[in-house]
Amino acid sequence: MLGLMQDWPLLIHRVIDYAATQHPHRAVISRSVEGPMRRTTYHDVRLRALKLAQRLARDGVKLGDRIGTLAWNTDRHLESWYGITGIGAIYHTLNPRLFEEQLIYIANHGGDKMIFLDLTFVALAEKLAPHLSAVERYVIFTDAAHMPKTTLKNAVAYEDYISEVDGDFQWREFDENTAAGMCYTSGTTGHPKGVVYSHRSNVLHAMSVMMPDSLCLSSRDTVMPVVPLFHANSWSLAFSAPMAGATLVMPGAKLDGESVFNIIETENVSVTAAVPTVWLGLLQYLESTGQRLTKLKRVAIGGSACPRAVTEAFEQKYGVEVIHAWGMTEMSPIGSFCTLKPEVADLKGTALYDLKQKQGFAQFTVDMKITDDDGKILPWDGKTFGRLKVRGPAVSKAYYGLDEAILDNEGYFDTGDVATIDEHGYMNITDRAKDVIKSGGEWISSIDLENVAVGHPDVAEAAVIGIAHEKWGERPLLIIVRKKDRQPTKEDILKFIEGKIAKWWMPDDIVFVDDIPHTATGKISKKNLRDKFKDFRFS
Ligand code: ADP
Repeated sequence: MLGLMQDWPLLIHRVIDYAATQHPHRAVISRSVEGPMRRTTYHDVRLRALKLAQRLARDGVKLGDRIGTLAWNTDRHLESWYGITGIGAIYHTLNPRLFEEQLIYIANHGGDKMIFLDLTFVALAEKLAPHLSAVERYVIFTDAAHMPKTTLKNAVAYEDYISEVDGDFQWREFDENTAAGMCYTSGTTGHPKGVVYSHRSNVLHAMSVMMPDSLCLSSRDTVMPVVPLFHANSWSLAFSAPMAGATLVMPGAKLDGESVFNIIETENVSVTAAVPTVWLGLLQYLESTGQRLTKLKRVAIGGSACPRAVTEAFEQKYGVEVIHAWGMTEMSPIGSFCTLKPEVADLKGTALYDLKQKQGFAQFTVDMKITDDDGKILPWDGKTFGRLKVRGPAVSKAYYGLDEAILDNEGYFDTGDVATIDEHGYMNITDRAKDVIKSGGEWISSIDLENVAVGHPDVAEAAVIGIAHEKWGERPLLIIVRKKDRQPTKEDILKFIEGKIAKWWMPDDIVFVDDIPHTATGKISKKNLRDKFKDFRFS
């Protein structure tokens, strides 16, 4: 017997319809690429998304067509997602921080028919365009007054583009499993791989991120996704913030510590999210200026392990709750949040921050297990580590255009991470499988070592890689960027680390560098570091 409930497919346009109905005047505020702040509402975002959908339909864009976006977090970028998906076309985010060859590969492999882009990226797009033969038109997120001279094919200002229609348009209806968005993983080896989100997966994932033990979003929040829309759906915030009816602040192109601080304070941001590098920048700005955060309540930190010093500074100095989160592009992207279950709610001091170093427990819709290399399930004892595997309605089952099977026989996807899970379900990433340092048959977590090192008051950033070692196979090399005008020595740092980790984890050497390379999603690029130090030998 089937249930007798209505068939109401989980389509993305329902999110903006809901926001525009229940929260029509809630503000959507953006730092525009042209400079000034732009203020709009969910009512207007929906109206303009409808206009875009109507215009796209008039141009012959149809169900399943891919449309690239090369843009910062702004209201225009946001409404383009709703407009594109509202006719069953697919937004395909292009990460401008990738190399040109990667972008060309990704846009061609994804089959992009049009590209929407910010003014900032016109020059970049002009370089890519000769290699993107399938792209028929470029729409620039600006108005006629700011429209640059460009060689881009059929280039048009977004405001002109949507002004030619009146918005009297119905969203298209289709199956909730229809593709909605595409995002390619950075692909540290081989070509980037295309992850394809569906309407259903985006809606379910956004709901799971709103929940109280996740980001706990409500209409009383002002949410700012610093994490870009091109980094795995900005961790759902493009959907979950309107779903919650929260005020939305889009920070545009300025993501340095000072700009992030200013927008948090002037726009009363209560919840924000980004990778640790952004927060290191903000905390350094606060430290050097003596400014205080007066509005922020919660900050979600993920994408790579959140250093303990960052969690402690936010919570103890500035009274901001840190929610450590973990996920990956293939998971829409979030798979766990470190919020406090009653079992751990009484923890204080060191024990509390030990827990907050963990990546947290899976939210509803994510099943998690750890296994050995043969697929045997390992216990949740907080000590045994194994390959972390996940499944759920917002987890990938295949990559776009690739035949390879990526699920085990129980339907789990191997994340490529190594982790422990404790008796309360809190998962802790030891390392990415490929970054873990294998010393004498035992494993050293590069994440743990980096975490301790970055706690030194003179250290701005730290990375650990394994260097070949005759006797042990591999030993850790610690690479450090010092804070401005600080000169800690190797001995200072070794002394600071000693006692905080097992003796045999102590780095065999430390090198100081001016900067550490980052990936296109703002993480430390271990691959580049390994290349750079490939001839390094411990003396
Ligand atoms: P990319 O590496 O291309 O940016 P993803 O954003 O999909 O792609 O990266 C996912 C990976 O990032 C995870 O598999 C994990 O290794 C790492 N990661 C994400 N969040 C955390 C976290 N909180 N702690 C440690 N590692 C994390």
